[in-house]
Amino acid sequence: MLILCPNCRAPVQDARQVDESGVVCDSCGHRWAFHRLPLFVLTGPSGSGKTSVAHRLMTGMVPEVVFVEQDLFWWGDFRDPSDDYANLGNVCLNLAFELARNRRPIVLVGSCWPSRYETRSRRRFFAETHYVALVSEDSVLRARLEARGPGYWTQAIETMIEWNQMLRRGETTNDKSIHLVDTTGATVEETADEVRHWIRERL
Ligand SMILES: [Zn+2]
Repeated sequence: MLILCPNCRAPVQDARQVDESGVVCDSCGHRWAFHRLPLFVLTGPSGSGKTSVAHRLMTGMVPEVVFVEQDLFWWGDFRDPSDDYANLGNVCLNLAFELARNRRPIVLVGSCWPSRYETRSRRRFFAETHYVALVSEDSVLRARLEARGPGYWTQAIETMIEWNQMLRRGETTNDKSIHLVDTTGATVEETADEVRHWIRERL
């Protein structure tokens, strides 16, 4: 954790020091108010249009929120897949928490299930979490991924097709509902507009 107690400057080391009403300092007992914000996650398989849509949304379409790509941390120990990429999940939650102190909700962009975040103690930094996934018809997804060329290996394509199917069947983790946006036949602008509306309804 990065924040320091405003009274004694001791670092807040543990998410358990955060609850609905604020933060409690383990060292001096000082409590200060902390406004918990919602956390948004834009997910979906590679090829679903996530990156293009996020790029469009980041042009000021939803100035009330801040978009952050999970892949910002796609290096070193953050690529360790243990415990559903716990290192990556935790660092993203830390960053989202720090940015949210400016009273701007965060939208984390990247392929993941809710378990990437819902199982972490740092989840307590946020009020509600909301998940939206971009999906498409399998044939469309396959064509998009194959168009990426030989660098995108076949196994990854099959994995993404399978994940696309799971999402479309309504599968999820941690009992979190995932709102689906079908990008089949939709332009980037149309999909971005739909995601924008979905976010604004939840602010
Ligand atoms: Zn203190």
